[in-house]
Amino acid sequence: QAKSQGRGRFSFFSSEMNRLAQERLALETALRKALQEGGLRLHYQPQIDMASGQLYGVEALARWTHAELGEVSPARFIPLAEECGLIADLGRWALGEACRQLAQWRTQGLAVPAVSVNLSPSSFHNLDLPRMIADTLDRNALAPQDLTLELTESILLDTNPSTMKTIDEVHAHGVRLSMDDFGTGYSSLSYLRRLPVSELKLDRSFVADLEHDEAARALSSAILGIGKSLHLTVVAEGVETATQNVMLREQGYPVAQGFLFSRPLSPQDLEQWLIRRQAEAPALAPVAQL
Ligand code: C2E
Ligand code: MG
Ligand code: MG
Ligand code: MG
Repeated sequence: QAKSQGRGRFSFFSSEMNRLAQERLALETALRKALQEGGLRLHYQPQIDMASGQLYGVEALARWTHAELGEVSPARFIPLAEECGLIADLGRWALGEACRQLAQWRTQGLAVPAVSVNLSPSSFHNLDLPRMIADTLDRNALAPQDLTLELTESILLDTNPSTMKTIDEVHAHGVRLSMDDFGTGYSSLSYLRRLPVSELKLDRSFVADLEHDEAARALSSAILGIGKSLHLTVVAEGVETATQNVMLREQGYPVAQGFLFSRPLSPQDLEQWLIRRQAEAPALAPVAQL
């Protein structure tokens, strides 16, 4: 009896594994198709200059609507793209699309100071990346300072010999680099001396705990201190409440991003958001706007 039960369990697991593998393959195929046929989009989340209340920049975030599954989270399809060799194409697409969109906003007379694009570590394996970025900027008549590349601390685990060279070249060209989700990774702080970053993004887990956790407050303040002493801009991510915003402002955070100000928006919705804000701006002090 035990034997037959065991066999039953085995075949249950194998069919379950088979199902998962097929699901994954189907998702991979659909993602590849979406990438080839223009089925991915970028949404843009405003980043706010705390002192002036003005727009500091926008972060481009990939969006994918699957024909049957609906909206698929980047937390799902970005790792998939990394595993199945699509991430380089996805990164190239995001860079091109974000720069094209920024140039279009400028043509429309909308004041968007800069765009940030997330890149996975493996995008930096490509020695052509600096050249590709320079071409993309040129093609869209943008300056290197118009673009920020967000990387995560996992880049430090990357042993590919091209990675550092590519990062240095991109930086030498004048493109800004930002350390995303700062404080959650492998945080040997010494790497901040080796990586030419201009910006740190305080991970939103610290922001989420600010109101109730003294340790989170101490750490967000300490991280700001580190950033300041290295002349880096520190951006607080995931600001959802007015209280968090006040606390970050009091700690001296120069830039904040989060649902309190706006969710990531389609280009059209961002345009409306900007126009509404520009119309309100003269009447409101920065504090009141927030
Ligand atoms: P991230 O780069 O740290 O982006 C911030 C994430 O936090 C976004 O999730 C954003 O929608 C979300 N967020 C913003 N404000 C708030 C807030 O106030 N509260 C909460 N709870 N969340 C907030 P999203 O768009 O789902 O992206 C998740 C992650 O996927 C990104 O984290 C990034 O690591 C990755 N990702 C997204 N687009 C791309 C891309 O084009 N390329 C690469 N390589 N990665 C991407
Ligand atoms: Mg990011
Ligand atoms: Mg982040
Ligand atoms: Mg993240």
